[in-house]
Amino acid sequence: MAESRLKFPETPQVQEARAQPARVGVIEELIQALRCLPGVGPKSAQRMAYHLLQRDREGGRRLSLAIGEAVERVGNCRRCRTLTDAEICDVCRDDSRDPTTLCIVETPADMIAIDKGTGFKGLYFVLMGHLSPLDGIGPEQIGLNALEQRLDQGEVREVVLATSSTVEGQATAHYIGEMVRARKLKATRLAYGIPLGGELEFVDSTTLAHAFRGRTELE
Ligand code: ZN
Repeated sequence: MAESRLKFPETPQVQEARAQPARVGVIEELIQALRCLPGVGPKSAQRMAYHLLQRDREGGRRLSLAIGEAVERVGNCRRCRTLTDAEICDVCRDDSRDPTTLCIVETPADMIAIDKGTGFKGLYFVLMGHLSPLDGIGPEQIGLNALEQRLDQGEVREVVLATSSTVEGQATAHYIGEMVRARKLKATRLAYGIPLGGELEFVDSTTLAHAFRGRTELE
């Protein structure tokens, strides 16, 4: 017996529609795009999108311009690796800072937290992450080659290890501590007050200042 199911010839319109992927509307696209922000789920993304479209299109234009500029122009400081739109960031260019003390942090946000919260007036080196061998993040990915070169220039006397107290942060501090001590330099670690597993960025400034002052030499 021949084919039992009847086949109807498709019209050109149907064929064309079938060939194209399902259309995502402009609003839906905006909602999806907003979800790349931390802590923004589908509901907040939808609220933000409708807020911009209903009440604040000017704000929306400004936002899109600012994001476009920032993602194109912001790179990493050539000295400390923090985010900046200049070749060398403002902190590294500040001559009044003490170049003999170098504070190692995981993120630009941690750098700002320490700078605002503790009165530290040395310089920084930003890892932009921490060691995480399972994710393929080794010494090179967090800039330790550059850090070694910096230490070998002979200006730095003390390295303050201000990585977070998560397991990865501790392992990273330990690794860098060994690097520092191999060069007969002083390595110190934020001592107490930082909650276990805490991300430095979220620690209040009093606690942070306390931990910074109470830093101890790495054993
Ligand atoms: Zn810098």
